[in-house]
Amino acid sequence: FLELCLRQLLVVRVVVPLRVRLLQNLLQQPLAFYNDQKRGELISRMSSDVSSATICLNTMTGPLLQEPLKLLGPVIVLVAIKWWFAPLLILFMGVIIVSVRRTSQKVHRRAKVRQRTIARVTEAMVQMFSGIRVVKAFGLERAKVVQYTQRNEEFARDAMATETTKAWTRTKMELYTNLIMVFAIVVAMLVVGGGGRFSPGALLAFLMFMAQTYRPAKVLTRSYTDLMDHLAGAGRVFEFMDLPPGMPDKPGAIPLTDVVGTVRYEDVSFAYNGNGNVLDHVNLEVPAGQVVALVGPSGAGKSTLVNLVPRFYDPISGRITIDGTDIREFTRESLLRQIAIVTQDPFLFNTSVSENIAYGKAGASQEEIEAAARAANIHDFILTLPRGYDTLVGERGANISGGQCQRITIARALLRDPKILILDEATSSLDTESEHAVQQALQNLMKGRTTLVIAHRLSTVQHADKICVMQDGRICEVGNHEQLMASETLYRRLYQLQFARD
Ligand code: ATP
Repeated sequence: FLELCLRQLLVVRVVVPLRVRLLQNLLQQPLAFYNDQKRGELISRMSSDVSSATICLNTMTGPLLQEPLKLLGPVIVLVAIKWWFAPLLILFMGVIIVSVRRTSQKVHRRAKVRQRTIARVTEAMVQMFSGIRVVKAFGLERAKVVQYTQRNEEFARDAMATETTKAWTRTKMELYTNLIMVFAIVVAMLVVGGGGRFSPGALLAFLMFMAQTYRPAKVLTRSYTDLMDHLAGAGRVFEFMDLPPGMPDKPGAIPLTDVVGTVRYEDVSFAYNGNGNVLDHVNLEVPAGQVVALVGPSGAGKSTLVNLVPRFYDPISGRITIDGTDIREFTRESLLRQIAIVTQDPFLFNTSVSENIAYGKAGASQEEIEAAARAANIHDFILTLPRGYDTLVGERGANISGGQCQRITIARALLRDPKILILDEATSSLDTESEHAVQQALQNLMKGRTTLVIAHRLSTVQHADKICVMQDGRICEVGNHEQLMASETLYRRLYQLQFARD
């Protein structure tokens, strides 16, 4: 009882910090890491692979520690009875160890493949539930079941391959152990039969102790193959644990305080994963407190440009400054405290409305949360919810409309009270009435802040202090609405196109 409890205690003591460390390490990775990772893969590493690590620990502190000791006693007695048994034993053990190791490595390789397949099964599930609206709207249930079945069959095949190799290793081991037994017995009998110095009593003791080695040897092999199996999962955990933090603060990084809010891009170029330049020598100044709009065709690089300010990515050349200092000189935490982002695809966590707004500022009081909600034109709506601010918003904001969701994220940004604001297509998916409410909330949010706004609807950026037209990763036109409309510009063409369409 004590042994089991203590082992469990050890496992819990190790596994909980392991999970937390893994999560911390994952959260320290830059956004680019997440672009390359599938969600199912991450979930699988955090769940089934961590469980494998737990089993490894259990095996290492249990059978792999105890069984060699259980084996040692009878072996010492055997050698004490007949010394010549020692070299024979070493020989046999050598053969067993080499053979078991070889097949166990095969178990390990197969288990690695199986763990990857488990991740693919999880990925299929995550994809299905994340896109459940599309699945329902397009009647994809059957296709999804087929896909899920295929992945599960792949898993079954890989799991079977691992188990068969494990079974083969164990069978081989039992065969070897039995052969050793038979060999030892035959040798002992021959010694007795040949009138050698082996009394019947010694023979009996010899055989009894020989039999006692059988169980520990069997358990040891089984545990070793289990260990090699689960090490495959544990290895996947440590692959992620060993990732260096994505963008650590520079040594001697300073906190960003007393911000005036002038953001400047100085000859900034950027490429994703070493591919072609998505931003090409961009120069842009966003004066403190002003609104600069980015417009241009899809894929021009607008989102990429704004994503460099919160350091989701760093430029490959050039620099971005806030009030004249390179943003890489600041600690990331203090930089992010001065920035709020409202995206076109607002995300709410499945917790209360209040908590969703409070993510904007650690330790915000209920009064502050409500004040932010009022400024975001969402307070009255929240009061109509069944439990007011304590209402759960549902997975991905399912119980709340797009416009309301957007205004809750605006309240979150207002609560942060940032100096720099990034709005990415914030009103593009809304109907006219919702858009009006959201626009009002945004006006409140933008007051007195340096704002970079991306908009496809050119009607929403006419009042910006400066409009930058982007094309192919460059800023090709700059001016206010009137200036850009006064000549034959890309902006005027885009505007006229939209005007005709609307
Ligand atoms: P849109 O208006 O359609 O949102 P955009 O002007 O904001 O477009 P970006 O999203 O910045 O353009 O994309 C610029 C280019 O970078 C595109 O060619 C796009 O395919 C590429 N790109 C964007 N995100 C990534 C990414 N995570 N990895 C690789 N390439 C990317």
